[in-house]
Amino acid sequence: CGIIGVTGRPDALQLLLQGLERLEYRGYDSAGVVLAEGQGLWRVRAAGGTQSVAQLRKLTEGAPAAAAGIGHTRWATHGRPSEANAHPHVDCSGQLALVHNGIVENVDELRREVLAAGHELRSETDSELVAHLLEDALAGPAAGDLPAAVRQVLAQLRGTLALVVVHAATPELLVAARRVSPLVLGRARSGAALVASDVPALLGEAEETWVLDDDQLAVLRPGACEVQDARSGRPVAPRRLEVAWTL
Ligand code: GLU
Repeated sequence: CGIIGVTGRPDALQLLLQGLERLEYRGYDSAGVVLAEGQGLWRVRAAGGTQSVAQLRKLTEGAPAAAAGIGHTRWATHGRPSEANAHPHVDCSGQLALVHNGIVENVDELRREVLAAGHELRSETDSELVAHLLEDALAGPAAGDLPAAVRQVLAQLRGTLALVVVHAATPELLVAARRVSPLVLGRARSGAALVASDVPALLGEAEETWVLDDDQLAVLRPGACEVQDARSGRPVAPRRLEVAWTL
């Protein structure tokens, strides 16, 4: 339902929590964040209905310092509202995490494929399947190249999606992709790169803002926000969004 991601900001967690609070108007049943730091991924989730983001604030006191992370508020479509079904979802290695908005339509086929490949599912969601498909893509044809893995898996997915993915091997890198479900990108004066499902999460933070169009992929690093065509991988000029609102 609500997505926020940031890289290149020493207090990434505060921006994630603030972003989730600003996306609250969309409604949600659970919420979670993953922080990416040198030691790996650090995840916390809460299924407390509309109190979930407030619960995350408490649960993240004592979180490790991290300059990158992703956050999500969930409106369940596949699987009941619960902590296990809350995003971010991780792959079997625990090295890759993602947040997803929307609905994967070919879940039955993908679930069979993922189980046949030996993955263990820990939620009832459509979204978790994408994490396992990415794990296989990274171990196979995409060979450690996260944007290439996301491009490959997108071609297997039917339905609507906004995705943001992070991997422990490249903690400063976020890859975002979109089909139908919206995503906006931002760059802060400090150089931090941001992504969110809606503009309010970026207000006062992003100096420049762009819209990610359908079947585009964004590669976010501190100081850089590149957009490419999700099918060819070719760079495309991002579409500028003039934000006239202030807080
Ligand atoms: N289909 C996903 C789920 O049920 C994402 C729902 C959402 O957009 O929040 O977990």
